[in-house]
Amino acid sequence: MEVEIKYDGCTPTKEEKILINRFINNLKKSHPLNDDVTIVFQTERSEKMTTGVRTNNHKLKILVKDRLNRDILRTVAHEWVHEHQRSVLKRKKQKNIGSENENEANAKSGEEVKKFEKTNKKLEKTIYSRFSEEISKIESILNEEIPSNRKIISEIKKISIEQLPYDYDSLGSFIDDETMKTHYTKHYKGYVEKLNLELEKVSGKDMDIEEIIKKISRFNKKVKNNGGGAFNHALFWKMMTPKKTTLKNPLLFKIEKTFESVELFKEKFEEIAKTRFGSGWVWLILTKNNTLKIVTTPNQDNPLMDTEKNGGYPLLGLDIWEHAYYLKYKNERDKYIHNFWKVVNWDFVCDVYVSQTKKKI
Ligand code: MN
Repeated sequence: MEVEIKYDGCTPTKEEKILINRFINNLKKSHPLNDDVTIVFQTERSEKMTTGVRTNNHKLKILVKDRLNRDILRTVAHEWVHEHQRSVLKRKKQKNIGSENENEANAKSGEEVKKFEKTNKKLEKTIYSRFSEEISKIESILNEEIPSNRKIISEIKKISIEQLPYDYDSLGSFIDDETMKTHYTKHYKGYVEKLNLELEKVSGKDMDIEEIIKKISRFNKKVKNNGGGAFNHALFWKMMTPKKTTLKNPLLFKIEKTFESVELFKEKFEEIAKTRFGSGWVWLILTKNNTLKIVTTPNQDNPLMDTEKNGGYPLLGLDIWEHAYYLKYKNERDKYIHNFWKVVNWDFVCDVYVSQTKKKI
């Protein structure tokens, strides 16, 4: 099996080439392939490509523009695992989101990068140095509080800020521009920043945010509050959209079976949201027994935390802290809760449901 590497529109340094070759050598060992492959690092996005794509003639196309090197390695591993699934395991092509192949590629590529970073300490400088400009951009967005002497490498290893998938003013039927802006740039980013500061002091900093949440009982109160804030909001942003989406099967069927109708489900969700006294969240969750349930959590707790007795995987959640609605709704919290339905991203919610159900089988 041979690997041919091509660079289209970019010229890597000698160190970067060494780095890429080493990484690919690891992949050859952990996921051997049957056929020769070509890997193309390209600066222009080709059709049907977000960050990488595998084509039928054993070509892996990797986008290198405006991205951090760590993500590029991750993409190489991701597409490589897909090639392995098709050529060695002889699996059929599956959907991009939530499928077994996709989940596996995500998990394995993460492992490969982590493993690589551990064994190639000296190369870290090469991996990250070219991107110092981008990192400083991220820092300046984050806020002024970050000590300027913080090392680039530790920056990039931290829990990252999820991008808002739409503009601040695009959820106008539900929430106003100013609230969204403050909510995202101050509250949410504040949680992520404080979480990262705290994680520097404790063990467990190599975990991703979902792992931390699932094992939250191992951590202190600061990690619980800020980790919860980071995770809850990252989910919340994705659970909303300005686009029109519809509730589809199999989740539609499950909701109708559990709550009789979608309307009754919504009523119940609103009713339980209203029972939350003070700050917290309301959730639709998938329990360990594969049933749907509506629950509320206080503060920034999440149903996925191992401290929750009756928890589960969050499918849909609504932030009912005052900071989420007060500028627009003042004391009319019920109205805020009701208007949430106008912006729910059912596509996302359905995808999460499908992928979480599959994991249990
Ligand atoms: Mn919030």
